[in-house]
Amino acid sequence: MRLHHRQPEIPTFVEAVTAWRGWSLVEVDGELRLSSLTRPEVWTPRAPHAASCPKGRTPTPQRRCRCGVYAAVSPEALAGLHSLPGGVVGEVSLWGRVIEHGRGFRAQVGYPARLGLVCAACLAEGSGRRADAVQRVRVAGRTRLIPWCAQHAPPTARTSARSVESSLLSVYAVDPIAEELIARIKAQHGELLFHQSGGCCDGSAPMCFPRGEFLVGDVDVKLGEIGGVPFHMSRSQFAYWEHTHLIIDAIPGSGGMFSLERPTGLRFITRSRLYSDQELARLPPLG
Ligand SMILES: [Zn+2]
Ligand SMILES: [Zn+2]
Repeated sequence: MRLHHRQPEIPTFVEAVTAWRGWSLVEVDGELRLSSLTRPEVWTPRAPHAASCPKGRTPTPQRRCRCGVYAAVSPEALAGLHSLPGGVVGEVSLWGRVIEHGRGFRAQVGYPARLGLVCAACLAEGSGRRADAVQRVRVAGRTRLIPWCAQHAPPTARTSARSVESSLLSVYAVDPIAEELIARIKAQHGELLFHQSGGCCDGSAPMCFPRGEFLVGDVDVKLGEIGGVPFHMSRSQFAYWEHTHLIIDAIPGSGGMFSLERPTGLRFITRSRLYSDQELARLPPLG
């Protein structure tokens, strides 16, 4: 295979890069095929899948274009596919010209390395779960195979997902994807926490972080949860707020420098009112 020159202004990789992507599953003349999620383009088994530029530009991908074989840096990012009609996820090897973008890559050539069938409904809800059954549906002249878990499977999903998956693996000559990696598919920022460290009056801002990126310490008190997201406050702050009913609001504006709501155009603020004596008597103790 001939590699293109390295052009200094474009970050390209000469070695293969391993990344993550989703596909939809179709049947072409009775044969299982992977298809692109966004266009009716089939990946030929046992042949490198080369990207083509809709604008006819070469080499592909171009920096100021959207062409290329797309892939994400981690399985977590696949939860962001949400409503795309998928059901197959896997590791993909990318090579040739590879451009980094946002949370992933656009490449000249790709081929799957590991594949697995995950429930399309669970994926749309932002989490990965191995599929149990497959449903055949005619969509726009194509036969699509939609994988479902036992909970989400409609009555028409009658084919075993295991048998479809093992055929798919042998057609593409690839390995199955590990269970732990499927479990890592979780909506971006799915696990969050609020933390309020400073500010002792109305209008001070709690910060919203991905749970894994913020360590809650002994000096913090968990006050409760907002939509399943835990709310923590430092003990020193809690001394000021202890006798108040806190209300967390989202208002227009930009949030703290490290807080996740920044790109939304909204920020969280803390409002408060004093508890009545009756309410105070009913409050559970906090640890
Ligand atoms: Zn292009
Ligand atoms: Zn499901």
